Amino acid sequence: MEIQPIKIEMKLTLKIRIFPKKAEIKLIQDQSNKYISLVNRLIQNKQSFKVKEIKDTLPSAVKAQAIIDAISIRRKKQRNVVLKKPVYFINNQNYKIDAEKQTVSFPLWDGKCKRFTFDALITDKDREMLKNKQGILRVVQKSGKWYAQVAIEIREGKSEDLGIMGIDLGLKIPAVVSTKDKVGFFGNGRMNKYIRRRYNSRRKKLGKAKKLNDIKNSKDKESRVMRDINHKISRQIVNFAKVEKVGKIRMEDLSGIRQTTKTSRKNAKALHRWNFYQLQNFIGYKATLLGIGVERINPQYTSQICLICGSINKAIDRKYVCSSCGFVGHRDIIASKNIRDCRTVNGGVGNPENHSAIGAKCSANGRADDTALNLTLKVEENSC
Ligand SMILES: [Zn+2]
Repeated sequence: MEIQPIKIEMKLTLKIRIFPKKAEIKLIQDQSNKYISLVNRLIQNKQSFKVKEIKDTLPSAVKAQAIIDAISIRRKKQRNVVLKKPVYFINNQNYKIDAEKQTVSFPLWDGKCKRFTFDALITDKDREMLKNKQGILRVVQKSGKWYAQVAIEIREGKSEDLGIMGIDLGLKIPAVVSTKDKVGFFGNGRMNKYIRRRYNSRRKKLGKAKKLNDIKNSKDKESRVMRDINHKISRQIVNFAKVEKVGKIRMEDLSGIRQTTKTSRKNAKALHRWNFYQLQNFIGYKATLLGIGVERINPQYTSQICLICGSINKAIDRKYVCSSCGFVGHRDIIASKNIRDCRTVNGGVGNPENHSAIGAKCSANGRADDTALNLTLKVEENSC
């Protein structure tokens, strides 16, 4: 199976609180229900796919969006899907977010198609993000509060003329990066280990005393501490990439690693998969916000392929010695360079297309994201 390295699609979702009035809430709820029931009918093919033939009292732009949504679900062969949660989607030509006036406006059907403007809470950070390309808007209610969720699509920088940076994640050294001519070490593995140990031993004591609530609190606290550390490391790495004029970051795709005893290093990684996953995510979105592309490659042998002759050797602790050509190096640096160059066994270099990815999965995880991608049906009709 030959798969290209996976570009982490940089679509962030911006959550903006909106404040509809009572009558407006009823209307949004009505429209959301109608939207969902229309999509469900379209999935089952019990309804024409032409906007003009759809009689539901919804703005035509929203009907068109329902068609796109349904097509996308059908394309994934999920015909048995029945959507239940009310939601309302508006494409980017039919809503407007005004950061200055702190408003969000979009059309609803109220006897006829009308544009409604809602007060909104838009922070300075949101304002920055809104400078990027806006995708679809999703109106949802969560614990009594209303939100407009905007998909933000961030464009990748031109990477051809910029360097590529490989990142190897590990336990002893959280992140080792290699650019064309520089190597960087980030994080403090020893400190992380100490933190994990400290929380673990505290939880053991709590376990003996059967203090279950305290155990949960301790787990939450530990994950907050680790999250904080991952935020710091990812920020440092991405800043380093920026200074070094990196156009593209490559990391290992850790999603498909099978747990076998043969890959002991990766096994150790599997134990901390969540932590690596989070760190990769943080690096991914911070990089993309700066226009740096992100790819993931097959993690197989990245720490074992000789940089000089391409043969496979296992390092002992950090020390790598090639039995074929005598090359000696630091295991994690070798890994980060192999990742950077997409190096394959026996010397193939720099051809990501040939870098097969085991168990690689596209990161498309949400319906809204997918429809934002598949905006193939042009909605030209701006109905209100
Ligand atoms: Zn060698």
